Amino acid sequence: MTDPSPRQLIIAIDGPAGAGKSTIASRLARKLGYVNLESGAMYRALALEAIRWDASFDDEAVLLKLAQESTIKLERAVGGNRVLLNGMDISARIRERDVTEAASKVSVHPRVREWMVARQREMGIGGGVVMEGRDIGTKVFPDADLKIFLDADPVIREQRRLDQQKVKGAPAEAIAAELRERDRRDRTRTTSPLEAAEDSVVIDSTSMSEDEVLDRIEELVEQRMVAAPGDCE
Ligand code: C5P
Repeated sequence: MTDPSPRQLIIAIDGPAGAGKSTIASRLARKLGYVNLESGAMYRALALEAIRWDASFDDEAVLLKLAQESTIKLERAVGGNRVLLNGMDISARIRERDVTEAASKVSVHPRVREWMVARQREMGIGGGVVMEGRDIGTKVFPDADLKIFLDADPVIREQRRLDQQKVKGAPAEAIAAELRERDRRDRTRTTSPLEAAEDSVVIDSTSMSEDEVLDRIEELVEQRMVAAPGDCE
């Protein structure tokens, strides 16, 4: 008989913007041969749909209807994830500033979140996923095999975001202010505010390189695999 196949873990990576979640989640998923599910892309897709329909970001009922009537797909692609909204590739468009801002507004609504969380559970339930977001360890998969809360000093996070946006020539002060405001909104909303799950491993990446963060997480993954090898349900 061959060895039992390794357990297909559910790995949750949460944290604020600019902490490095996306890069780390995508590199980790590639290394493990897992699927990288970027939950923020789903809120971004809904935000784009709201912009297109000129819907108010405050109107929960309309936003929920838009979500229910949309098909949002996350697909693995060379160099990252592809995000499809009703069959259209919106991967680049949803990274623009207006959508980024709108995503953090549409995501405050409890019924919108409930709908998103249900879809995210369907996508990740089989395991073999690295899912990143704000509430993965607290709400989407409270029983995830490994929960990471990736954080960094706000000044560093702002700098990282500025470095990413510089290419596009965006004004530095506006980008920093938007990040701070988005952070505030994510941390203070009533439903599923951004917070570390009690049983998460907090990694402060302020003075760590990407490789160091990845090594640390890989160590933790290995421990989880050893803890229950081949323990597939
Ligand atoms: O992670 P990303 O920056 O793409 O997320 C965009 C926005 O979507 C966040 O600012 C946050 O308001 C919302 N979000 C959320 N819960 C998640 C993922 C993202 O509320 N699990």
